[in-house]
Amino acid sequence: MDYPDRFDVIIIGGGHAGTEAALAAARTGSKTLLLTHNIETLGQMSCNPAIGGIGKSHLVKEIDALGGAMGLATDQGGIQFRVLNARKGPAVRATRVQADRVRYKAAIRHMLENQENLTLFQQAADDLIVEDGSVKGVVTSGGIRFTSQTVVLCTGTFLGGIIHIGMERQTGGRAGDPPANALAQRLRALPFNVGRLKTGTPPRIDARTVDFSRLAEQPGDTPVPVMSYMGSRDQHPAQVSCHIAYTNERTHDIIRKNLDRSPMYSGSIESVGPRYCPSIEDKIHRFADKTSHQIFLEPEGLDTHELYPNGISTSLPFDVQLALVRSIEGLENAHITRPGYAIEYDFFDPRDLKHSLETKFIDNLYFAGQINGTTGYEEAGAQGLLAGLNAARRAQGKDAWTPRRDEAYLGVMVDDLIRMGTQEPYRMFTSRAEYRLLLREDNADLRLTPIGRELGLVDDARFTRFEQKRAQMEAETERLAATWVQAGSDEAKQLEPKIGALPREYRLLDLLKRPELDYHDVASVTGQQLEDEAVIEQVQIQAKYEGYIVRQQQDIDKLRRHESMTLPASLDYTRIDGLSNEIRQKLDAARPETLAQAGRISGVTPAAVSLLLVHLKKHG
Ligand code: FAD
Repeated sequence: MDYPDRFDVIIIGGGHAGTEAALAAARTGSKTLLLTHNIETLGQMSCNPAIGGIGKSHLVKEIDALGGAMGLATDQGGIQFRVLNARKGPAVRATRVQADRVRYKAAIRHMLENQENLTLFQQAADDLIVEDGSVKGVVTSGGIRFTSQTVVLCTGTFLGGIIHIGMERQTGGRAGDPPANALAQRLRALPFNVGRLKTGTPPRIDARTVDFSRLAEQPGDTPVPVMSYMGSRDQHPAQVSCHIAYTNERTHDIIRKNLDRSPMYSGSIESVGPRYCPSIEDKIHRFADKTSHQIFLEPEGLDTHELYPNGISTSLPFDVQLALVRSIEGLENAHITRPGYAIEYDFFDPRDLKHSLETKFIDNLYFAGQINGTTGYEEAGAQGLLAGLNAARRAQGKDAWTPRRDEAYLGVMVDDLIRMGTQEPYRMFTSRAEYRLLLREDNADLRLTPIGRELGLVDDARFTRFEQKRAQMEAETERLAATWVQAGSDEAKQLEPKIGALPREYRLLDLLKRPELDYHDVASVTGQQLEDEAVIEQVQIQAKYEGYIVRQQQDIDKLRRHESMTLPASLDYTRIDGLSNEIRQKLDAARPETLAQAGRISGVTPAAVSLLLVHLKKHG
């Protein structure tokens, strides 16, 4: 049948990409349909129930700054919060949260069900309606035809999914869920470049069978961090600890002896898995000299005994999984509640996408999430938000929003994918961003909330809170800049234990730049201090890192000013220092006319463009 209502945007898949896409499209006022296999699995975490981590929390905060759901759900579902790299600089600091799987999912579903302009429907999308090179809608497994102006595909690991446990294989999108084979076949018939990737998950363990007295406890941080700019500690449920265990020589022997029964080593899986989240068999093979690997035993929730043993993802047969788990100190009597497995799935070469995440071959069709070769909830959610927004903007006759690399990690990720593609599941790291001092997790709201407001993604409550924060920051920075401390004064004496006697008068803002002093030290001499930690953090970071931040901004401005600079037709790229051979060959083959054109060539990095600029300036 033809469904009687027409939609502006249809999102296929209610995972992390799909839910952010649906919410973003609907927030901008577009009539949106979220079509998914199963409403009960909306926002389901296929693997570890953890959100954030290095590079990833930057994406969560960006989603949040643009009005998205992930950060809010994390504050409602988080049962252990930690700040990673707390002693390092703010650019690489990251928030990592262990979530209660059920509470997180419930929070996402609540937001979806209460979002204006958003309709949910449970059924598999089996076919796309494509006419004259443009998508017009979707046909479900039940034969219902939904029509729309744009469609966003967020199908995760479900396209042609095959699950492996030892030598056994079965079709599936993840354990317990069917694959999306009809849609996979339909997409393979369209002119996209398709590849296969794989990922895996560890067996889950019943906590009642673990001897915690023999494991090290890892509590969360105090004070407990918060993920969303709108979040508060009061929202967090009870907080719990994780525990640390270790593999040993016996564990490694068990794995080595059974490698021929691993689908990865026997050749039945050929696709590439996530480099930074390898299976335990991979770790033992690749780091053969290591006699032990760390395992974090992480609770899956407050109302379950299941634990996620982070670090022993495996697709070995069940008997080997049980033996390897039971060889670990503290887990000698462990009961496995669910076996670990690996899954192979189709992904599409992201170089076939535009920066808006629209496909180059079919108009009005967008891809987001694992389908683009990424791995991780955060990477998926951020792409989903962007694709949902741009699908809605297309339906509204507006131009796409494509964040730059110096604006957001979202811009870095999409630019990386579209320019370079990926041969392995792509995950975010701070090292991927060349302007990471500007793209901190603490300032995602300052970078993006005003843009999100203009795009129609940010509601009044969030924008009011943001404006109050910004006003407080500016006022406090001005106050500290206008307050002087005289040498020998009572105020100077208060600071003496930390920095010695002041030789002359100083502005408080300049004193705040000193590594020995923090905001509370300098503000206390005025007898007046702010209480909002987020505002204090900003005032402090902006004062302490001002010099570096200004320099990075100047680099960006310089590169942008020189984008129209012409590259001589005779330029010998082999003579440019620092360029990789691959980039030299690409530039030589493409012969770009300007720096901007060079930067748009797939695989030519912003760092390479900077080297070109230096060369041009030196050699005219
Ligand atoms: P998914 O979360 O997979 O969601 C896809 C959604 O689309 C599902 O709701 C599905 O039902 C629906 N759907 C699919 N096809 C259709 C259709 N035709 N019609 C209707 N609905 C459809 N990430 C890591 O970062 N580290 C890891 O270690 C890790 N391990 C993983 C292990 C396993 C076994 C799996 C399955 C995933 C793992 N991941 C890991 C990846 C992580 O789960 C994904 O990156 C993330 O969930 C991707 O989000 P997504 O929205 O793109 O897709």
